[in-house]
This record gives sequence, structure tokens and C-alpha cells, in this order.
Amino acid sequence: MTAARPINIAIVGVGKIARDQHLPALARDEDYKLVAAASPHGKVDGVANYPAIETLLAAAPEIEAVSLCMPPQFRHDAARAAILAGKHVFLEKPPGATVSEVEQLKALANGKGVTLFASWHSRYAPAVEAARAFLASARIKTAAINWKEDVRRWHPNQDWIWQPGGFGVFDPGINALSIATHILPPMFITAATLDFPENRCAPIAAQVSFRTDTGIPVAVDFDWRQTGPQSWDILAETDKGSMVLSAGGSRLAVDGKVLQEGPDTEYPTLYRRFSKLVRSHESDVDLAPLQHVADAFMLGKRNVVEAFFD
Ligand code: NAP
Repeated sequence: MTAARPINIAIVGVGKIARDQHLPALARDEDYKLVAAASPHGKVDGVANYPAIETLLAAAPEIEAVSLCMPPQFRHDAARAAILAGKHVFLEKPPGATVSEVEQLKALANGKGVTLFASWHSRYAPAVEAARAFLASARIKTAAINWKEDVRRWHPNQDWIWQPGGFGVFDPGINALSIATHILPPMFITAATLDFPENRCAPIAAQVSFRTDTGIPVAVDFDWRQTGPQSWDILAETDKGSMVLSAGGSRLAVDGKVLQEGPDTEYPTLYRRFSKLVRSHESDVDLAPLQHVADAFMLGKRNVVEAFFD
């Protein structure tokens, strides 16, 4: 039973992730009432639909919170408008196209007394907390991240992802970094190579070397050209054995023995976290994963590779 009145919420940006995850999660959560949606073309059945956030904010004053599910290049302006209108804001990952724009949103939300939540869905995968606890109890010798998937399978017809600010392979890669920054000691980039298809503005692959502040090497391999089985794995060699956090954070094994595994409940958990933040008048904006992506673009060597066609 939910003690408080449901939060009137609107979805902005009705695309794949809104349909796959946000709408089902909201439909099952008594803490929310979905009252509207805004998107240039997409519509949600059974609620008022608007073509843009500005029209939604002007026409539907009962809205208390918005969930921004559009591509990152368009998120700042929408978030700013919502915060200025006094709404709580849930940001899909990545929280913006640049670090400084999200810093400014954070300050704006603080000044307006509304909640800003930079959601990192992969952090809420079922085996992530167990991995964090395991690594906290062990001495880490080396770590590695292999995040390799087939862009044609997961991002068909998503032109924005290849544009500046679309992140390219760092769009899935930032999910790995959101887990890594939660379970590994603080780290920073020492070298990176970014592979840009000659006809695209964003990388299709990246190799990134990190070092933790205590000198542990963390080798990162992101690739969007992997067909067949997909790899979303974080590995660590430790004094307590070889850890593999696989399937995007869903399964933890040490020396081959499965310690934790569970079904996907990332988005329902994200929405529970958001309502708690709203009701306790808090924000949660961790920019560490975004900062690492910015650093990779800043330090990375640009390598031109063969053209990519959908
Ligand atoms: P998508 O399928 O391309 O959907 C994004 C939607 O945003 C588009 O359909 C478009 O709506 C809408 N849009 C574009 N500009 C807008 C604006 N200015 N205001 C409002 N809406 C606007 O992309 P997606 O896969 O859902 O990804 C969106 C975000 O979710 C990305 O940041 C991505 O990293 C994140 N995400 C995606 C996944 C996934 O599996 N796809 C998983 C987790 C997180 P119209 O169709 O109405 O023009």
C-alpha cells in the first residue's frame, strides 16, 4: 500500500526505452499516475499527448514530475524548462550531452527545491550490489570491462546515436561505466583509442585504459560490431578469486561459482528510488560515468575505420 497520493508524472520522448521500460514500470507502480506524454510523433494511449515539453508544461499544470526519455542532445533544454516550472525531473541515461550542462541543472534544481535524478539503470541490475560487496572484501589485482554488442540489433534507425552528443558506442558503454564507478575504487583514464567509421560522427568502438587511484589497471573494450553472443561483462582478478559480473550486471560468479543471479527489475527499482527522492526532497546526480566518457573523448586518439551502414 502506498501511503502518499500518487505523483502525477509525464513521459517526454516516446521512443524505444519509453515503450519498453518506462511505461510498463509506471503502469505497475502505485506511487505514480501517468497523466500525459510529450513527443514530436510518439503517443501514449489513454493520456493527454503534446508535441513538445513546452506545450505540455503550459497545458497540464497538474503534472508534478517528468521523465525525460529523449536522446541526450535534447535533454538539457527540456530539463531546464521542467525545473523552472517547478517539476521534479527523472533523466534517462546519459543525463546530458555534456558534464557542465548537467552540473547547471543540478544547481538549478537545488535552487528551485525540486528533485533531479540522474538515473543509471545498469546500477540497479540484480547482481551489482553483490559484486560491490565482494570487491569491497577482496584485494583487486586487475579489472577489465568487455561491453560488446551488435549496434544493428539494439539501435536500428537511431540516427541521433551517431551524431555529436549521441555518444556512439559509449551509449551502451556508459552503462558499464555506471556499474564500474559503483563497484570499483575511484579510477581515471590514462589512454584511449576511439574508432570512428569514416562516414559517422561517433565511435563504433573504443579501447580505454583506466588506473585506479591505488594503481590497479582497468582495461575497457567497447565494441558495437559484435554479432552472435553479446558481451556485457566486468571481470576482476582478486586475492579471493576471479570475479565475473556478466549479462549487464545480472549474474555474479567467482571462480565459476554463481553467487547471485536474478531477473531484470532495473526500471521498477529506478522509479521506486525516484519517488523516494521526491518525497524526501532530495536529488541524486552522480556524474562520474559521464565524466569518464568526456575524458575518453578528451584524451582519446581518433582512429578512422571503415564506413558503417545500417
Ligand atoms: P529512440 O527510440 O530514438 O527514442 C527517442 C525518442 O525521443 C524519439 O522517438 C523521439 O520521439 C523523441 N524525441 C526526440 N527529440 C525530442 C525532443 N526534443 N523532445 C521530446 N522527445 C524527443 O531512443 P531510445 O532508445 O528510446 O533512447 C532514448 C534514451 O534512452 C537514450 O539516452 C538512451 O541512451 C536511453 N536508453 C535506451 C535504451 C534502449 O534499449 N534503447 C536503454 C536504456 C536507456 P518521436 O518518435 O516522437 O519523434
